[in-house]
Amino acid sequence: MKIPYSPPDYFFVDELLSDEHKIIRSAIRDWVDRRVMPIIDDAAQEAKFPMHLIREMGELGVFGPFIPVEYGGAGLDQIAYGVIMTELERGDSGIRSCASVQTSLVMYPIYAFGSEEQRKKYLPKLAAGEMVGCFGLTEPDHGSDPGSMETRFSDGGDHLILNGAKMWITNSPIADIAVVWAKDEKGKIRGLIVEKGMEGFTAPETHKKWSLRASVTGELVFDNVKVPKENLLPHISGLKGPLKCLNSARYGIAWGAIGAAMDCYDTALRYALERKQFGNPIASFQLQQKKLAEIVTEITKAQLLAWRLGKLRSEDRATAAQISMAKRNNVEMALNVARESRQILGAMGITGDFPIMRHMMNLESVITYEGTHDIHLLITGNDITGIDAFH
Ligand SMILES: Cc1cc2nc3c(=O)[nH]c(=O)nc-3n(C[C@H](O)[C@H](O)[C@H](O)COP(=O)(O)OP(=O)(O)OC[C@H]3O[C@@H](n4cnc5c(N)ncnc54)[C@H](O)[C@@H]3O)c2cc1C
Repeated sequence: MKIPYSPPDYFFVDELLSDEHKIIRSAIRDWVDRRVMPIIDDAAQEAKFPMHLIREMGELGVFGPFIPVEYGGAGLDQIAYGVIMTELERGDSGIRSCASVQTSLVMYPIYAFGSEEQRKKYLPKLAAGEMVGCFGLTEPDHGSDPGSMETRFSDGGDHLILNGAKMWITNSPIADIAVVWAKDEKGKIRGLIVEKGMEGFTAPETHKKWSLRASVTGELVFDNVKVPKENLLPHISGLKGPLKCLNSARYGIAWGAIGAAMDCYDTALRYALERKQFGNPIASFQLQQKKLAEIVTEITKAQLLAWRLGKLRSEDRATAAQISMAKRNNVEMALNVARESRQILGAMGITGDFPIMRHMMNLESVITYEGTHDIHLLITGNDITGIDAFH
């Protein structure tokens, strides 16, 4: 009989969650068990995003959980969003990335910076998974420094004319719409909603990834694309627009990475208790206990950090620097947990029979996207010293 997944809760963090949070968690966990776990290794091995899960994710309510009900969201709090991200990433970082992008990088800017018409036109469909969105900020020559972007638009009379290219865009080849950040004629960064099928707009897929293989990544290429003026997000200008979106996504990642770490720990603990060498379970050896004890300690610290950040965010008090610290810490924690857990499984750890190597490879992207590990450190450094060390 398969023993159910049993994540650690060493400091009774569960007691900090409401009944509603626990009900949501159990619904997502059950869905991940039934619908993600049986197919995810094959999807990653074959580098195929499981498209059929998108509508189910919409029905499950993982797209825009904190967006108000009148726009198709669930009107939930920030802790609920975090709990959902943890459960999805226990399945796979690619599945969590899909929900993160749709929620924080597509629905959030349309909700926060969009017109009422834009909200009504796009949000309910995005929430239901009837429409897929992507977020275009990174460019071939501008990653950590998006303020130097070259993608531009000009006034073409009754429409805007968009030119440029974005790279490393999650979901771009399958997206119906792209929230694109580009400079206007005065050099101000604005957000535009670009729709699939607009003339001059293509979204080729990026191949040969060794990480996030069960997630689609691609480019966005704009060659004199005519974008209707009503597709401009009216209520934001400047780099703070995309940065606010990234804050929301980074917050979700701080929770999500814990799910990947918990899955690795759960797998490693079971294996260590069952696998015998020298006549004893490997869990009886001090070196393996050290790994397991340190892993559960690190997961516990990350849980408490995420929970406190969630509380601050619910009160609208979380700073961008606090979010950076949590994203950085928790993703590094998860990557280290994956590496240690993989070693506990010995050779078996490198196979697709166990999820650890897949999590480890996924987390190599997670530690780079939404601000690299270095950039988040510099954000903390800037915050505590008042000195910008970026330039
Ligand atoms: C799978 C995947 C999915 C992604 N999805 C999206 C998406 O949906 N939308 C989107 O817009 N982008 C997306 N990205 C892009 C991602 O956000 C960028 O890769 C990231 O911001 C880093 O940019 P870069 O890769 O160009 O690295 P670079 O900015 O070129 O950095 C290279 C190295 O230099 C370091 N570095 C840079 N500047 C400094 C500095 N001032 N001081 C010290 N070190 C520095 C970095 O830390 C890094 O180690 C995705 C990336 C991946 C891998």
